[in-house]
Amino acid sequence: MLQFHQLSYWEKSYLLEDIDYLVIGAGIVGSACALRLRERYPDARIVILERGWLPSGASTKNAGFACFGSVTEIADDLENMPEDEVWKTVELRWRGLQRLCGRFSPERIGLRFRGSWDLIDNTEDTAEMKDRIPYFNEQIQGITGMEKCFSYDPGIAVKCGFKDIAGGWFNRLEGELNTALLFRETSILLANAGITVLYGIGAERFEDSGSNVVVSTKNGPIEAKKLAIATNGFASNLTGDKRILPARAQVIVTGKMEGFELPGTFHYQQGYYYFRSVDNRLLIGGGRNLDKAGETTFALETTENIMGALHELVSEKILPGKSWTTEYRWAGIMGVGDAKKPVIEKLSANVGMAVRMGGMGVAIGSLAGEDLAELIG
Ligand SMILES: Cc1cc2nc3c(=O)[nH]c(=O)nc-3n(C[C@H](O)[C@H](O)[C@H](O)COP(=O)(O)OP(=O)(O)OC[C@H]3O[C@@H](n4cnc5c(N)ncnc54)[C@H](O)[C@@H]3O)c2cc1C
Repeated sequence: MLQFHQLSYWEKSYLLEDIDYLVIGAGIVGSACALRLRERYPDARIVILERGWLPSGASTKNAGFACFGSVTEIADDLENMPEDEVWKTVELRWRGLQRLCGRFSPERIGLRFRGSWDLIDNTEDTAEMKDRIPYFNEQIQGITGMEKCFSYDPGIAVKCGFKDIAGGWFNRLEGELNTALLFRETSILLANAGITVLYGIGAERFEDSGSNVVVSTKNGPIEAKKLAIATNGFASNLTGDKRILPARAQVIVTGKMEGFELPGTFHYQQGYYYFRSVDNRLLIGGGRNLDKAGETTFALETTENIMGALHELVSEKILPGKSWTTEYRWAGIMGVGDAKKPVIEKLSANVGMAVRMGGMGVAIGSLAGEDLAELIG
């Protein structure tokens, strides 16, 4: 394994020595942090360390929903969180999406705002929820300035050929993007900003001496004036912070089906399941609620029980009577905890972290990364 002491003059002097800002984690948050640091410090040496040869947590594995809250998710949050926290989280997600739109041109990342549906089973009673919709809409209008975000769509199941679904709560302001294109565009921005990303190097420990920070890796120690930790679900490994737990999320993508396209994104059962179309295929994920303890893991394997649940949902409700195959299956690791909000904090004089993005990082990741840059900058 190449050690830092074996590097050339060029590699040391122009890439690895005198680092001003070292960021750990090349996901959405770490990348946004590095880009913000570059905006603030045009001449600083900024380096990102990423332990995978691609980002290996959630940012290149997610479903690409540009979402800020579905009706049943918000209702569920209102049961479990103080009311003002719920709307603050919605607002954060909304502002994060605006920031994403500000940084990337929508066509370059496949971002389309076509709306989302939160599906309702035939057996569910919608009367009580219908009464709450005006209140939800009023709150969303206060955040977005847009009227009538939510409405009930009784025709969505017939339109899409779903079975045993009564209808859906339509959110006209949500969207979807292409996760890989977002990563590709981010890589271009990082390269253009002169930010070095070192893939395949994992940070093992860090020590803040007060005047600089030394990060230990298997390739040798690396020093920087300031350190930003953006390792999300893996944060406890480096910091020991038990408020951040790993949460595996599993996904399948079907084979191509001629002409298959859904009109937007879909949530089901308080967002525990989610699906959309991509390139004439169905992408579906979720089912973590079936085995929360088992899914509290760093392992990237998929499991038969959750794959089975996704298969059943597709066969019985989403593509009933249709022939389909699974072509891709994978898992990603999110960062979750007791509270549904990120942890953005200083850990010592020269070290900060922004982690625990939950299932919201596409929306809030850019803002969280920028906040981290401000914190350590
Ligand atoms: C299957 C799935 C579906 C999702 N769908 C959506 C969605 O539709 N919409 C949405 O908003 N959010 C979604 N999310 C959540 C979203 O993807 C995350 O919140 C977001 O990507 C988090 O970004 P991040 O940069 O904080 O973390 P990550 O992308 O996990 O980045 C952290 C990086 O740190 C690296 N790292 C960890 N430890 C070390 C170390 N010691 N040294 C060096 N590098 C290290 C990891 O390899 C990783 O690349 C989904 C997540 C998953 C897994």
